[in-house]
Amino acid sequence: MSRVVLFSGGLDSAVLLELSRRATDGRTLALTFDYGQPHRIEVKYAKMFCARRGIEHWTMNLDVPASGLLTKEESPVVLGRNMIMLSAAASLAMVRGDDEIWFGATGEDDELFPDCRPLFVHKMNGVMEAIGGPRISAPLMGCLKGDIFDMARDMEIDVNDTWSCYFPEDKKPCGACLACKVRKRGEAALA
Ligand SMILES: [Zn+2]
Repeated sequence: MSRVVLFSGGLDSAVLLELSRRATDGRTLALTFDYGQPHRIEVKYAKMFCARRGIEHWTMNLDVPASGLLTKEESPVVLGRNMIMLSAAASLAMVRGDDEIWFGATGEDDELFPDCRPLFVHKMNGVMEAIGGPRISAPLMGCLKGDIFDMARDMEIDVNDTWSCYFPEDKKPCGACLACKVRKRGEAALA
């Protein structure tokens, strides 16, 4: 069993990545996308996280329409982002002969993001079957932020080694965006 894990550099996908690393005896590739995101600092965090844990890491550049990117004025939905990323990951996984792709959708995401819902995963797997691609799975889909923090603690993942904020200010989290709010809620649940 070998696997590609979409890794944004954030806590959710860090937990997922570590779960996969352990389950595949190290045969896990972390895949991070550089798509011109305002929070591009997460790419650096992703690289550092993988280097620390000896996980193979790949950064893929995507040239996506700027209108789809996060701005403070728009709702934080990048249209079709997971579809694009999973498709690119599938191509890579097929070249490498990997069996699965994991991505880090959680129970906190599905209300806002259609491509974090079970129906999306189901339909993507239909496409994968049609092209002989890897199986796609989002094992954290039933988890809330508190659960993620618990798992991170159990796996000795330092939250500060991950990056979540959409709108960093002077290389520090803004404390106000959706990702910052969700992270605070998780920290509170843990305390
Ligand atoms: Zn923020």
